[in-house]
Amino acid sequence: MNEAITPLIIGNWKMNGKIKQLGEIVELDIILNDMNTDKCHVVICPPTTLLISAAQLNENSKIAFGGQDCHVEQSGAHTGDISAEMLKDAGAQYVIVGHSERRADCGESDEIVQGKVEAAFRADITPIICIGESENERKQGRALEVVLEQLDKSIPTDIKDIIVAYEPVWAIGTGLVPSINDINEMHNAIRVALIKRFGVNGEKTPILYGGSMKPNNAKEMLELNNVNGGLVGGASLKASDFIQIIEACQ
Ligand code: PEP
Repeated sequence: MNEAITPLIIGNWKMNGKIKQLGEIVELDIILNDMNTDKCHVVICPPTTLLISAAQLNENSKIAFGGQDCHVEQSGAHTGDISAEMLKDAGAQYVIVGHSERRADCGESDEIVQGKVEAAFRADITPIICIGESENERKQGRALEVVLEQLDKSIPTDIKDIIVAYEPVWAIGTGLVPSINDINEMHNAIRVALIKRFGVNGEKTPILYGGSMKPNNAKEMLELNNVNGGLVGGASLKASDFIQIIEACQ
């Protein structure tokens, strides 16, 4: 844990949750109300259909909200898409960009991801930029090279606030996690690359780990100096699981 960066625990609900699922936010909100959360920021990225309702549940909530993706443009003829400005209007302060599921499902390149980061800056919301190697790339010993190239190409030259999420693709939703040494090595390499490119801003950029982070493994990961929080999928859907990961920050 790096004392200079307040850790973030971000829940990515993916394509899960109908209106009933808002009850998990209410439950989490009640628990967080009684907790000292100075040591950790909590964010939930629900499906867009729930974003407005979630953001309006409690205006004094300690939970912030984010979108799961945005279009590069502000508005226009892009059926089915959502712009960063629309997310902001709906109550989002963050947006996930370049998640490996979108890179795979929608063919998103690093260049497209970079456009989405710029869209988030334009709308004044913070992009959470996902990068990570595939199983094959790790087996071939290319994990560091692949991740650092994605980092380099997905981030524009002029940055405002960004969050980087290292998410090995093979660890997402599988229950598999890299060894603690591998996580440490990757996060340290990302930190060095960020400092080399952005100086002081690179020192302050939160680097989250994502990929089967669970209540039973979060603490060990979050203790690493350059792991500044987690991007959590499956374990963010139930308040009772998610709160244990938040507690691991304390
Ligand atoms: C994710 O969707 O970003 C993720 C890390 O999922 P999970 O925690 O379920 O592996």
